[in-house]
Amino acid sequence: MADNLKHFVIVGGGTAGWLAAATLGKALIQSGVTITLVESPTVPTIGVGEATIPPLITVLRDLGINLSDFMQKTDASLKLGIQFEDWHTVGQHYFHPFGQLGRPIDGMEFFQCWLKAKSHGEGSSLMAHSPEAQLAFAGNFVEQHTGNHPLLNQAQFALHLDAGKAAEYLKTFSIALGVNFISANVTDVSLNSDNQIIQKIVLDNGHGLEGDFFIDCSGFQSLLLGHALDAEFEDWRAFLPCDRAIAVQTCHANEDNIAPFTRAIAHRAGWSWHIPLQSRMGNGIVYASQYMSDDEALAQLTERLSGKMITSPRVIKFKTGVRKTVWKGNCLALGLAQGFIEPLESTAIHLVTKTLAVFLRYFPSNQIEPSLQERVNQLVFDEYLQIRDFLIAHYCFSERKDSRFWQWCQTDMPKPNSLHKLELRFKELGSVFVANEALFQSTSWYAVLDGMKVIPSRYNGILDRFDIEKLINSLTDGASSLARSAQQQISHRAFLDKYCPSDKEKEND
Ligand SMILES: Cc1cc2nc3c(=O)[nH]c(=O)nc-3n(C[C@H](O)[C@H](O)[C@H](O)COP(=O)(O)OP(=O)(O)OC[C@H]3O[C@@H](n4cnc5c(N)ncnc54)[C@H](O)[C@@H]3O)c2cc1C
Repeated sequence: MADNLKHFVIVGGGTAGWLAAATLGKALIQSGVTITLVESPTVPTIGVGEATIPPLITVLRDLGINLSDFMQKTDASLKLGIQFEDWHTVGQHYFHPFGQLGRPIDGMEFFQCWLKAKSHGEGSSLMAHSPEAQLAFAGNFVEQHTGNHPLLNQAQFALHLDAGKAAEYLKTFSIALGVNFISANVTDVSLNSDNQIIQKIVLDNGHGLEGDFFIDCSGFQSLLLGHALDAEFEDWRAFLPCDRAIAVQTCHANEDNIAPFTRAIAHRAGWSWHIPLQSRMGNGIVYASQYMSDDEALAQLTERLSGKMITSPRVIKFKTGVRKTVWKGNCLALGLAQGFIEPLESTAIHLVTKTLAVFLRYFPSNQIEPSLQERVNQLVFDEYLQIRDFLIAHYCFSERKDSRFWQWCQTDMPKPNSLHKLELRFKELGSVFVANEALFQSTSWYAVLDGMKVIPSRYNGILDRFDIEKLINSLTDGASSLARSAQQQISHRAFLDKYCPSDKEKEND
């Protein structure tokens, strides 16, 4: 254990702060490290961040959290992917599922086999081979990951959850681990003489709090890394112009039928989300203020709500981008204090847990080691870059003609060189190269590029040796047996009622 890093101070008690407290608490407290989290009693948390992606399930399991208990207490439902509506053209939908697409055939990637079969007239959609998509379309989930269609056994899932309840859950968990909690406002940050190291934070209760290492989870203000240490912010608004959201919660229009997926519906200057929890819906609209006013956005959002509003709509302003060094001196920023890419693929909470995992992987063994710090900064920045490119792909391949926003996306939206290369390779060879550690692996790219009608000109020539009739039969049979099995599974609602009823449902029993 690092001799010089005995006292950790976390500023902020949102999802990022309590995830940090739980993760660092689990990893470090038993080795004699103290962890203190300071949260303002007056500055509210952002209150959104309700859709997650599968790595969170692993994080919860690694923390030793019982998934069913977590789901009960956070009003959580299951998420198998995202349905994108009206993105390519109005009326056209596609699905980005978690998990794999089909299974390799004779060692060849399934997507290549599908491309070859398609070029010979086989008509199954790519999603006909995705277990998550088939379950989602049926409104079902797998009750037991055994004895099913082999692909269903491997279905990947994440959660839709109540962000406030999740932070509360993690708070209770962290305090039980031994994390200290102080309710106070940070009013000042004291640095050493060369302004590189934080010595202490000053609280409005008159106390100062010293620490060896500080975790900045103070939200968009980025009090420590951004404000005090002046870490440079790389602004990505030129790539992704959406900069505002309005969030509102509603009742379910139909409580018996809640979708096991997020809906992301494009509109004339951005998109809106619908996130079903067990007892209510989370809804919101994301828009580029350059192309849509707050009033227009509110009207657009409320027009499309199907249930009664249970909170007042709230405008949230944000700036897409990231601090170039997320770890500077003795401070690591997480969550909104670190950066934010718009919420289209629900990546923000993942970036918190990924940064924590990378930080612990390279945790300094004696004192802060610049090469480890550099490595962490590089890995986190690379993850942001890849997510940025992936999100741009959702916009720039659109063929919508109905607004200035979509015209801009198609003609003037800057395409990073990395995305340009990926597009060329995909169109030419039908494949994409992504780093092993990247969040979005090739199957995610295939789903989105296929959904946005980016078509490869050929499949891998090695497949010429495949008997086309056999291949077509294999795909046709595989698709119908997967669809049949998905239809036979338990409904999403029945699964939730059985394994993780929300508090409200328990009261009704
Ligand atoms: C519109 C929108 C939609 C989103 N949707 C998703 C999604 O679907 N999925 C996803 O993964 N992410 C999503 N996110 C991101 C997600 O909400 C955040 O990443 C996540 O909630 C973590 O926020 P945070 O803890 O960094 O900040 P916050 O929740 O803002 O917490 C900041 C904390 O700092 C404290 N604080 C502030 N100032 C002080 C001070 N002076 N002294 C002491 N404490 C202080 C506050 O009290 C609070 O506890 C979304 C974000 C936005 C803007």
